[in-house]
Amino acid sequence: MALFNQEHEKFRREVRSIIEAELAPRAAEFEDPQVVRTWFRRLGSWGWLGLSVPTEYGGRGGDFAYDIVLAEEMPRARAMGLALSLGVHSQFVVPHLLSHGTETQRRQIVPVLVRGEKVAGIAATEPTGGTDLVRSVQCSAMDDGDFWVISGEKKFITNGPIADYVLALVRTSPNGGSTSFALVLVPTDIPGFEVSTLRTMGIKASPTGWLKFRECRVPKSMTVGKPNLGFLYLMNGLQRERLVLAVSAVALAALVLQETIARVRSRMIFGHPLGELQAVRHRIAEMAAEIEANRRFVRSVAESYRDGRVEGKEICMIKFHVMESVQRVIAQCLQLHGAEGFLEDHWVSRVFRDTRVFTIGGGVSEAMKDLVAGYLRL
Ligand SMILES: Cc1cc2nc3c(=O)[nH]c(=O)nc-3n(C[C@H](O)[C@H](O)[C@H](O)COP(=O)(O)OP(=O)(O)OC[C@H]3O[C@@H](n4cnc5c(N)ncnc54)[C@H](O)[C@@H]3O)c2cc1C
Repeated sequence: MALFNQEHEKFRREVRSIIEAELAPRAAEFEDPQVVRTWFRRLGSWGWLGLSVPTEYGGRGGDFAYDIVLAEEMPRARAMGLALSLGVHSQFVVPHLLSHGTETQRRQIVPVLVRGEKVAGIAATEPTGGTDLVRSVQCSAMDDGDFWVISGEKKFITNGPIADYVLALVRTSPNGGSTSFALVLVPTDIPGFEVSTLRTMGIKASPTGWLKFRECRVPKSMTVGKPNLGFLYLMNGLQRERLVLAVSAVALAALVLQETIARVRSRMIFGHPLGELQAVRHRIAEMAAEIEANRRFVRSVAESYRDGRVEGKEICMIKFHVMESVQRVIAQCLQLHGAEGFLEDHWVSRVFRDTRVFTIGGGVSEAMKDLVAGYLRL
């Protein structure tokens, strides 16, 4: 079955008109991370935080393709940080609760997240590292009867400064391997929790936090899934996040290219439009082909994901190959804008800064290439 049907396309028109009327005109405001918090309820009121969440948990009960439509349209808001913030909340935390949470967690917590009354983030990375999590995660959860006592730090956490809940990867036994971790949903209003905001070079709409847990007592009923399988759940959940973000990245590159084409058509050089120079025409054609190939790749993998037959290898390929290609396209588009593109407030310049994180956050390119080589038995 094709990824999109008429209903999805109808939804796309609805989303696009809301984004163009409500979000895009405020793109500059979204450079302030505090503003994003105030928009979660609006996003929730449009149903965008629970498109594929079953209706009994407050969602719209659609299939995964609705999430893909939204991911493709979000770049039109011209604030990629907003797409990232929303993506972590609804494509990462909520699916974890739906897949592994208890019925009580699904009934009590998912609906408030879907309505945007509360905001969530996922906290795995620590100051000691994010790639080799099994060795670098020190944040510990000591067993104390009905409670975990959580101590440690998490760094670079999307939504951290605005989150009401963080789904934290915590070590439950000091020296064990990948089966020594739990995912615990920590309410951020508990004693001992502290957060500070980190200043980033891009995606400013998405608040990035440094979290500190000082003997935070969290009821064990907030454990998501089995207490020894947290790492496995996290790795599986990353597939969806990586895929959905790549879908947005490709759509963003297509928008930037569209704007660049308009620019080279109107910019005059040597008495002719810049776009008449063969070197420019060829560069544009190459970028268009690259975007189209990437779009078809991510959509085809999204279809496999929807049908439950996605391969980890393909997701890793997307995470480095598509993201690196998007960065190259955007760098070239910026070049074709000349000095205008270098201005701090120019949209293409902002996109250039925003997309730099695509080959770092959620798994660095180098680690993805190692994984792909592993799938190829190298
Ligand atoms: C804006 C932003 C938002 C983020 N949001 C979150 C979040 O919400 N939750 C969360 O848990 N984390 C988050 N992260 C953290 C992110 O996932 C980590 O930064 C990432 O996993 C890399 O970890 P690291 O920064 O510790 O780099 P390291 O693991 O220290 O790696 C540093 C560098 O070493 C090189 N390297 C690494 N592995 C290899 C390899 N196998 N082969 C060759 N070279 C290699 C790469 O060049 C890499 O960039 C976020 C990061 C950013 C920047």
